[in-house]
Amino acid sequence: MFDTQIDETEAGKSTRRKFLVLSAAGLGGVVLAAVRKPQAAAAADAKQSGQEVTIVEFSDSGKRVKKVRENKIVKSEEEWRRQLSPNAFDITRHADTELAFTGQYWNVHEKGLYRCICCGTALFTSDTKFDSGTGWPSFWAPIAEENVRKTNDDSLGPVRTAVSCTLCDAHLGHVFDDGPPPTGLRYCMNSASLKFVATKTPTNHG
Ligand SMILES: [Zn+2]
Repeated sequence: MFDTQIDETEAGKSTRRKFLVLSAAGLGGVVLAAVRKPQAAAAADAKQSGQEVTIVEFSDSGKRVKKVRENKIVKSEEEWRRQLSPNAFDITRHADTELAFTGQYWNVHEKGLYRCICCGTALFTSDTKFDSGTGWPSFWAPIAEENVRKTNDDSLGPVRTAVSCTLCDAHLGHVFDDGPPPTGLRYCMNSASLKFVATKTPTNHG
């Protein structure tokens, strides 16, 4: 019954706030449970209206599986905040940058995949990782061009090229043209935007 009456507009929110203040004094948990529902419904709607994109799927062993068309993942600020650590939230959803030499992965040399911390899309592999000396995990290419998006970022004066996840728009870092061969590119990433999956030794059981 509340589902259809409360929407995500500003008016809706302020109505809900008043509602919550009232309910804190009165019905408490019962009403809180009821108002939580419409948020989930709104998120589902947003997801459905997400634009279709093409990405390439990879298995955890780094094998290219197939190209797929998927709806972009769209979530509310609140949903991302609940899912991510505060640091990962600030970096992926608000284009923050972690301090050099503080992240988890700048000095990792194991074989494996780097997936998006937000949606799990494969983004980079240890095969293209190199030691840039910058204190950020650096790669000379993404695992598949389809899986990352490049946009102009002039937030710090000179225009830089920001890199984000194609499927969920997570901010990952920037790409510069002072990298090693064969591409000459340096994808300078935030560890906090990534989740490393070490390559497992393949078994014969499939
Ligand atoms: Zn993502």
